[in-house]
Amino acid sequence: MNHNNYQSCVAVAGSNPSIIKDESLCVECGHCLAVCSEEIGVAGKRIAPAGSETENACINCGQCSAACPEQSLQVKSEIDDVRAAIRDPEKIVVFSTSPSVRVGIGDAFLDQAGAYAEGKMVAAIKTLGADYVFDVTFSADLTIIEEGCELIKRILTGSAPLPQFTSCCPAWVKFVETYYPQIIPHLSSAKSPIGMQGATIKTYFAAKQALSPRHIVTVNVTPCTAKKAEIRRPELNDAGKLLGEPSMRDNDYVITTKELAQWMQQEQIDFAALPDMDFDSVLGKGSGAGVIFGNTGGVMEAALRMAYQSLTGNPPPDKLLEFQPVRGLEGVKEASAEIGDTTVKVAVIYGTANAARFLEGDISGYHFVEVMTCPGGCISGAGQPQMHTIPVTNDIRLSRIRSMYAEDARMTLRNSVDNPEIQQVYQEFYKEPLGELSEKLLHTTYYRR
Ligand code: SF4
Ligand code: SF4
Ligand code: SF4
Repeated sequence: MNHNNYQSCVAVAGSNPSIIKDESLCVECGHCLAVCSEEIGVAGKRIAPAGSETENACINCGQCSAACPEQSLQVKSEIDDVRAAIRDPEKIVVFSTSPSVRVGIGDAFLDQAGAYAEGKMVAAIKTLGADYVFDVTFSADLTIIEEGCELIKRILTGSAPLPQFTSCCPAWVKFVETYYPQIIPHLSSAKSPIGMQGATIKTYFAAKQALSPRHIVTVNVTPCTAKKAEIRRPELNDAGKLLGEPSMRDNDYVITTKELAQWMQQEQIDFAALPDMDFDSVLGKGSGAGVIFGNTGGVMEAALRMAYQSLTGNPPPDKLLEFQPVRGLEGVKEASAEIGDTTVKVAVIYGTANAARFLEGDISGYHFVEVMTCPGGCISGAGQPQMHTIPVTNDIRLSRIRSMYAEDARMTLRNSVDNPEIQQVYQEFYKEPLGELSEKLLHTTYYRR
């Protein structure tokens, strides 16, 4: 079937880096349009001429593809490019895996949805030919340090407007740039975790290992289709700018959990039989705060742990190690936390349609607001496997969320500031949060679209 009925389905520009559409498979069921309009708040937001919706209007979240029962909408694959890099003897291929991949990958191979499969995931990527496998929970901790220090600075000095909004979800960032540019000064300037990871790999790690950054290929495995667009943002070449090679990208490829599972199936890797393997070091160790980044409310909880310790000098109390008001599957949650002399008022939102409603209300009085585009956070990113149901159910989302919180509770290292690898990278390289080098490599800028 070839048609252009944009009354019933989303339009996808050929230049969209995240999703592709096979018109011949579309049955005009309307599921994609409903998600894009009702949950993401994009379809219908900017009226484009029929059949010519611009790539600019799409925020690349991929949730339309996750809702498509006919495989008409699919994630754009980068597996072949990564395979080519692995075959190239000159290239050093460095993988980094986002927190949610380890609770999503098992859905494709194991019986139990949400199984915590970190060790097998690392082993699988090594089997596929990675030279190094690092953990994005490391740079989730780095993000919390930089973003938390920025928040404290805003609160104590008024250096920028409050509330501060999180910036780790690239679909949310593009939503603000496109539809609410007046909010740009409220976005944290901290890059997303993979943005920090790529820049750190091509500078600090390359120098430490005496590797040529030109030969390093950074591959991020994420639950996220929007990160395929994020890594192609022109300004995200900070390692190259620092090293005098501005054509070098901080990150080269993003493949989703689903692409990783497909690649493993093509190579006939028996996931369940793989031994557990550890991440490489450095950039391979995260705290529990970094692990829960994938859950809605996880970034907020991680930031409050960090802020408490930084402002009071004491470890966070039990209440902040399991801060129930920001947990769970409600689309908008609000809470207050006593930190030193300040009552910090926060909100946690998922679904950019919910965020739009929040922005259209009175946002004064809040200090920090977390926004994730996907339902339940990154654990339900459009790049997660969907072996059980389309669309994914709340039961499956909750099983992934519980799996992350259980791992956090099991860990002794639960605060980003206590991560010894983070302390090492500041000591040896960045020197201090919000310092000159940190600002160059770990922070970024946004623009009105
Ligand atoms: S990727 Fe997201 S914003 Fe773009 S069309 Fe699909 S649901 Fe809408
Ligand atoms: S969800 Fe898939 S099949 Fe249904 S209208 Fe959208 S593209 Fe077509
Ligand atoms: S919530 Fe997570 S997976 Fe979804 S678009 Fe944002 S960063 Fe990507």
